[in-house]
Amino acid sequence: MLADLLLKVAGMNQKPEQDYRPRPSSSGPERCLRQLCYKAHGLKAKKMSDRFVAVLDDSSWHEELTADWIRKSAFQLHSQQLVLNCGTTTHLGQAFDVAGSIDGIITDLLGVDRLWEHKAINHFGFERYLKGDYPMDYLTQCCLYLVGLQKVNPQIREAILLIKNKNTSAYLEFMLDYNSADDIMVVKHLMGSDGTFRDGEDVALFTNLYRDAFERFAQVEKHRVLQALPDRQFERSDWQCDYCPYSEPCYENYQQEFTEFVALDAEAAAQAAEYVEINDIQATLKKRQDVIRKSLKGWLNSANACRAIADGYSVNLAFQKRTTVDNKLVPPEILKKASDEKTIEIFTIKGGKA
Ligand code: SF4
Repeated sequence: MLADLLLKVAGMNQKPEQDYRPRPSSSGPERCLRQLCYKAHGLKAKKMSDRFVAVLDDSSWHEELTADWIRKSAFQLHSQQLVLNCGTTTHLGQAFDVAGSIDGIITDLLGVDRLWEHKAINHFGFERYLKGDYPMDYLTQCCLYLVGLQKVNPQIREAILLIKNKNTSAYLEFMLDYNSADDIMVVKHLMGSDGTFRDGEDVALFTNLYRDAFERFAQVEKHRVLQALPDRQFERSDWQCDYCPYSEPCYENYQQEFTEFVALDAEAAAQAAEYVEINDIQATLKKRQDVIRKSLKGWLNSANACRAIADGYSVNLAFQKRTTVDNKLVPPEILKKASDEKTIEIFTIKGGKA
């Protein structure tokens, strides 16, 4: 009753698409520059799926939920959605103030104020950051906000970037210190609610994030004026392209871009030779591996065993049930509706001296 209705309601409440403007939330290096250029050209984006509208809405509610927990702690949260001027760039041929609204400022028990930036993300992304990747877009966004904040309160140079795992409600905190004069961001520590803690040499320092953000704004403006597009920032198989609202125009004539037969240069030819050699070694090892596998499986079968161990090694036989669909039994009209045609890239490297 509701399960099939609510996402449709979410879809119907989708906010109208906003025109491109340089903003802190799209200033980072992980955001596809070509995607921003499509938007700056005024190209209409593909409508978000109803479920994706709900996913984005969930994220803003997660921020509210976290804010509620903070209010129950000894920290004070204030200045939510304070709008800041983070710098000036050129947009539509004119000087343009890059403005953004912060998630808030947190004051600790000693009266120290810090920028608070909250992100609610999926489990996969959260695990990546917990294991050592850095959320470069979020760090860049914090740099811009800190520059804006320091215009209002020069004392604030630290930020807490708090990331919530939407699947498990675990938290991950990046404590950041930004030296705006030299454009240097230091990650002072990384702390996870699971007890993970890294500081000192185990965390990183980044330079020129602010400068690079404004360079990207300038690049978008340049491409807008020329009505041109930069190279694709991601490969077709990347999840960024799967979720991109401009993937159709971006890959529309992709196949036609590759028509030339050319000679490899010396470096590329050496790489191709190395690749083929690795392939040959792998094939030989794989053959030997298959022989061993067959032999061990036979050994286990003859012992009627599902597990055998010795010297720290184990040989195991497990059974799993898998569901498969027989396409012949599915009515063709349903099969057609459920099928999605995609052009995939098949990249091969062959050769070698006979
Ligand atoms: S489809 Fe991929 S490469 Fe193309 S604009 Fe979108 S994110 Fe960028």
